Amino acid sequence: MNTLQSFSLVAIPPEDEALRAPVRAFLQSALHGVPPAVRARSWMGFDADFSRALGRQGWIGLTLPTAYGGAGRSSFARFVLLEELLAAGAPVSAHWIADRQTAPLILRYGTEAQRAFFVPRIARGELFTSIGMSEPDTGSDLASVRSRAVPTATGWRLNGRKIWTTNAHRAHYMCTLVRTSGMPEDRHKGLSQLLVDMALPGVTVRPIRDLSGDGHFCEVLFEDVELPADALVGEEGAGWQQVTAELAFERSGPERIYSSLVLAEAWLAELRQSAAPAASVQVIAGRIAARMAVLRAMSLAVAEQLGRGLDPAFEASLVKDLGTEFEQAIPGWIEEAFDAPGHPVPSVGLLQTLAYVTQLAPSFSLRGGTRQIMRGIIARGLGVR
Ligand SMILES: Cc1cc2nc3c(=O)[nH]c(=O)nc-3n(C[C@H](O)[C@H](O)[C@H](O)COP(=O)(O)OP(=O)(O)OC[C@H]3O[C@@H](n4cnc5c(N)ncnc54)[C@H](O)[C@@H]3O)c2cc1C
Repeated sequence: MNTLQSFSLVAIPPEDEALRAPVRAFLQSALHGVPPAVRARSWMGFDADFSRALGRQGWIGLTLPTAYGGAGRSSFARFVLLEELLAAGAPVSAHWIADRQTAPLILRYGTEAQRAFFVPRIARGELFTSIGMSEPDTGSDLASVRSRAVPTATGWRLNGRKIWTTNAHRAHYMCTLVRTSGMPEDRHKGLSQLLVDMALPGVTVRPIRDLSGDGHFCEVLFEDVELPADALVGEEGAGWQQVTAELAFERSGPERIYSSLVLAEAWLAELRQSAAPAASVQVIAGRIAARMAVLRAMSLAVAEQLGRGLDPAFEASLVKDLGTEFEQAIPGWIEEAFDAPGHPVPSVGLLQTLAYVTQLAPSFSLRGGTRQIMRGIIARGLGVR
């Protein structure tokens, strides 16, 4: 592969750019008075009412087919929408995973009955999902999952344990990766994806608090959970191929660049109020803008490839590796700027936002696959592994 060919500059078509103004107006009214320290939760912020309101606007499932309640728009329209949601720090995590991963997965691999049931409910912001891939001792080494579903007369009996499952305590369904045949040593063979109704007997969810005090991810136990036959998505044993295709949706999006954007914007707003900032502060502001511009162009190029139905795993991994490095650096750079002579005294709200993002930042490169795993995928794409 020629690495220079991986990213071609693409521009957002005017009809999709036009979506920006109505989305911005909606968000200004919906988020009026919400302080930056709360908005900094961004795509981890959970508000089911907000998701339903967004669904009423037709802004969930933007790229999904109209036949299933989507808006049938392009990947560029979705990029504009996501950018505005993240820049504003809208609490989108209730519907985020269902919109980003579960609905496209079901459309691609699911049965007609699964499409008809899940996708319209997801697009209305009524059905939330979580992703059960990680297990204790099975994070990066996803192929070694031990949770197992065995066939029964009526479907599947599931036993096992998942961990770090974002929103498992608030989602209606979990899309799990489990072993349905063979042994863990078989690695990529014998894995399947099952949709688990979280209200079923035998499902226990235990929320885990993170460093900031938020409880967004969970440990989940499955004890003899009886699933119907149509809980299976796609083919039995094809789970590994399905999951790796799904992960490109998870790794390349603007959420891998903009997690610290509310903090950066809050800082810049206070700087603009002050007399000319020191040169060292100007350098930091320029550094943020320059890196943001490059990463945005890369993320947009991946969105365009996803829109054409390609599987840009290599490019998505590049965006995630560089994007999360950038998101993680921002709180440190802003703290450094505070020390410059003449820097305005930061407001309490800005300090609270900085404290929150500083606590959360280490997780940016973990969630969705670690940095080392991204670099392994990149090395494979370069043909050196
Ligand atoms: C905020 C947050 C939300 C999450 N949400 C979800 C979710 O909704 N659903 C879900 O399924 N999971 C979720 N996760 C789990 C996340 O995807 C895993 O934490 C991640 O994949 C790493 O797995 P691990 O924690 O088991 O670390 P390990 O896999 O044990 O890795 C530990 C370290 O070893 C390195 N390492 C491991 N294997 C290799 C290798 N082969 N080569 C080089 N280095 C290696 C890793 O890169 C890492 O630095 C979430 C995690 C976080 C932090």
